[in-house]
Amino acid sequence: MTNIVLFGPPGAGKGTQSEKIIDKYGFVHIATGDLFREHLRQETELGQKARHYMDNGLLVPDELVIEMVEQKMDENKDAVGFIFDGFPRTVPQAEALDHMLEKHHTKIDATIFLEVDEEELKKRIQLRSKTSGRTDDQDMEKINKRIEVYNKETLPVAGYYEKQGKVHYIKGIGTIDQIFSDICAVIDSKINP
Ligand code: ADP
Repeated sequence: MTNIVLFGPPGAGKGTQSEKIIDKYGFVHIATGDLFREHLRQETELGQKARHYMDNGLLVPDELVIEMVEQKMDENKDAVGFIFDGFPRTVPQAEALDHMLEKHHTKIDATIFLEVDEEELKKRIQLRSKTSGRTDDQDMEKINKRIEVYNKETLPVAGYYEKQGKVHYIKGIGTIDQIFSDICAVIDSKINP
């Protein structure tokens, strides 16, 4: 089993690259933002609880996120691997993920950090807002809030994986295919070390 964390700020291209990774490697995609949006659409209890945080660019409380991820992993016990996208977003989430994987006798093999500067992120999110239908993409105040929350609460997760020697930095600016090929080089080195 191969488990990859795709890490980076909002708008870095994690969703785009995840699609390509799933196609090529057959991993199960665990994208917490997508999972929450599905709960919102289906108006579940979890969706109701998450809405306020998401609409305001804040993080959904850890325990709700962790429970949702654990459920998704349990539903996919036979997966050849997982790609975690938008998760973990806090150090307690990263610790919880390590415990969950340990229970399944596996671990994170690599954390791929897609590096994109703030100026470019804002441009990409504004462009995406035209088609995404996401309320949190629509105004600059919410976008700034998400970047601020990322810098404060999520960036320390990179430090957490740094200590485990698992972080691979990839420049997230360039063509989608070039970035994908850099990502594949990391994943391939984990599959066939
Ligand atoms: P982005 O484009 O900002 O990366 P996502 O689609 O990953 O957005 O997530 C959208 C929103 O869902 C976040 O702003 C947050 O409110 C919530 N969310 C997603 N994943 C998590 C998580 N791991 N922990 C807490 N909140 C999360």
